[in-house]
Order: sequence, then C-alpha cells, then structure tokens
Amino acid sequence: VSRVSARIAAIKPSATLAVDAKAKALKAEGRPVIGFGAGQPDFPTPDYVVEAAAAAVRDRANHGYTAAAGLPELREAIAAKTLRDSAYDVDAAQVLVTNGGKQAVYSAFATLLDPGDEVLLPAPYWTTYPESITLAGGVPVQVTADESTGYLVTVEQLEAARTDRTKVLLFNSPSNPTGAVYPRDQVEAIGRWAHEHGIWVVTDEIYEHLVYDGAHAESMPVVVPELADQTLVLNGVAKTWSMTGWRVGWIIGPQDVVKAAASFQSHLCGNVANVAQRAALAAVSGPLDAVAEMRAAFDARRRRIVSMLSEIHGVDCPTPQGAFYAYPSVKRLLGKEIRGERPTSTVELAEVILREAEVAVVPGEAFGTPGYFRFSYALAEEDLVTGVTRVGELLSEAE
Ligand code: PLP
Repeated sequence: VSRVSARIAAIKPSATLAVDAKAKALKAEGRPVIGFGAGQPDFPTPDYVVEAAAAAVRDRANHGYTAAAGLPELREAIAAKTLRDSAYDVDAAQVLVTNGGKQAVYSAFATLLDPGDEVLLPAPYWTTYPESITLAGGVPVQVTADESTGYLVTVEQLEAARTDRTKVLLFNSPSNPTGAVYPRDQVEAIGRWAHEHGIWVVTDEIYEHLVYDGAHAESMPVVVPELADQTLVLNGVAKTWSMTGWRVGWIIGPQDVVKAAASFQSHLCGNVANVAQRAALAAVSGPLDAVAEMRAAFDARRRRIVSMLSEIHGVDCPTPQGAFYAYPSVKRLLGKEIRGERPTSTVELAEVILREAEVAVVPGEAFGTPGYFRFSYALAEEDLVTGVTRVGELLSEAE
C-alpha cells in the first residue's frame, strides 16, 4: 500500500530525470559532460528588472500579503503588454498572476475540469501538461503529429479524437519540445473547430517572442475572436525576459473563470511573491530588446544545430521555427549496435550517448513520442558544436 495518496502516487517520474541525474553525477566526478537538457535561456535577467526587484525589497509596501489575483499595477501592465504584443484587448480584471507558467497550467485545468473531462493534448507535448490534467481530475487524450507534418496536428485528427466528454484543447505554439509554430490558417481552422464544438482552448504562448525565419506566433483568440469567451491564454516572464527563477506567469480569460481561479489561488498560495511581481512589472512594461538579442543568438545556434544534426546518418531533423529546441527523429538508429549495445528505445540510446559521448539529451519518451531526442540549444555555441560533434561521431559507429 502506498504511503502517499493515489493521486500523487500516479504522477510519473519524468523520463528526463534519469538522464539528468546521471549527467549531474558524471559532472560531479569531473567529467566534461555537455548538457542539451536545459529548458531555460542562458542569459541573465535584464538589469532594469533586477534593479526594480532590489528597490522593491526595501519598500515596506511589499512586505505584506497582497490581492490573490496579483498587484493591480501588474495586472494592468500585463493587459497592456498583451495588447502591444498580441493585439489582444483585455481588461486587467481578466488577468490572474500565478507562480510561473507552470502554476498557470495547473490552475487552468483545475478551474475548468470536472472528473472524467477529456483534454485533447497534441503530442509531442511538454511533460507538465498530462500530469496537470490528471492531477486536476481530467483525462489527457493524446493526438500525435510526427515530423512528416512538422509536428502540427490537423483539425481532422482533433475531430477524430473528439468525444462527448471533450472539454478542452491544449494548444502550444511555438511548441516545447518541437519548436513548431502553427501558421495562421491552421490556428484559424483549429480555433473555428473548437468554437463550433464548444470546446475550451487553453493556449500556452510562453515562447511567443522566440520565432525565426519570419514566423509569427498567432494568438488564437485574436485570430478567432468569437473564441475569446472559451479561451484561457497562458504566458509568463520566464522565456521572454530570461526570468525562469523569478516564478511569475499569468492566465488571461473570461472574468468569471479568472475570478474562480483567483479564489482557488487564494487558498493555494495566497499571492505570488511581491518582489517577483515588481520585477515582472518592470519586465512587461519595458522594451523587448533583451529578447531581440536572445532571438538573434538562438537563431544562429538553431541554424548550426539543425545543419549539424542533419548531417548525422540516421538522424532526421526538421527545422524548428520557434522556442529553443530541435526535435530530431532517431528512429532509424534504434536496434543498431553501438559500442557493444543494441538500444531499442530512445531512453536506452540517450543512456549510451551520455556514457560514451558524455552528452545529455532528453529522450522523446518524456514528451509522449518515443523515437526522438530533444536538444535544447540554450547553451554556448562552442559547447553546442562540441556536443553535437561528439554525438555524430558516436552514432556514425551504429551498424
Ligand atoms: N509552458 C511551456 C511550454 C514551457 O516550456 C514552460 C517552461 O519550461 C512553461 C510553460 C513554464 O514556465 P515557468 O513555469 O518557468 O514560467
């Protein structure tokens, strides 16, 4: 009998953790491990944000509890930022400030789902989505797209998975882990379909500013305005302002639902730390030049990693147009012999790569799609080149 609740015991240990723990152990032994696992920009938070936080620490006004839904100035500023960046016109009362995008994901599902409600979950998906859905009592229904369609699901696929229990569609563009960006016509088709069937959309826009090759992150309720009353937009400061550790995200949605989510939050955590909220206020009200610099650096690395991965025999790497991940298929390498072993899953192949090439990558099992690796290119270009070269040399031995 489990000592913890069935609900918590059901949470799957992340497939990333095994590789990550081994990578850390090797590093601690002094091995020159290169990690492609990081889900965060390798840039500092902009100075003006840090200064705002430092000033906030000294201000007594920030030493007590504040409103559960967030500082009024921050909710206003997030509404203004959303109009500026997405042309989505919302009221401050439609904004709930959360502890990072992660808590926005969980709170969104906890607020919308009753036991047994189904959530259509396009895969490859970010690992947190199915766990949040399940914790909230819902049932994730995976809809898989592969490299042949650039990892984009179609309305036909969604329609085939729809049942009378379907309550929500999760949408994430640009995507973690694939970097795929949905073109406007496909966003529109999916949004129209959701509206027609009364399906809620939870759309995670956290990578909105990390797009390349002229791609544009379209906000679904802007493309399909009639959908706004059944849409929750999730976002946060983590990726745009390199603020992963500050833990500020938000939900934007219809007032009644946001009010309910705020009531939940008042019991869950009270309010998000005031100092972090003040830092987020400086970030969202400020310019976008920090993310423009990161975008240029990521873009150069993206081109580099895609061209290097594509040259490895047995690796098929579509060109991602967003975020900071490449998601190649390595299916053709499974079952081949490498250094006396015959890995048949990407979990096993990732272990061989870590041990023999001293490079950490995240196996596709973590994202609902075995047969792939996620490479984050949020690391120095020099390390990127060394790491992918080592992987290429090792994999060239496969036979
Ligand atoms: N959504 C996606 C798709 C992400 O990849 C992440 C972070 O990895 C988040 C949301 C949440 O970020 P945070 O909780 O750091 O704000």
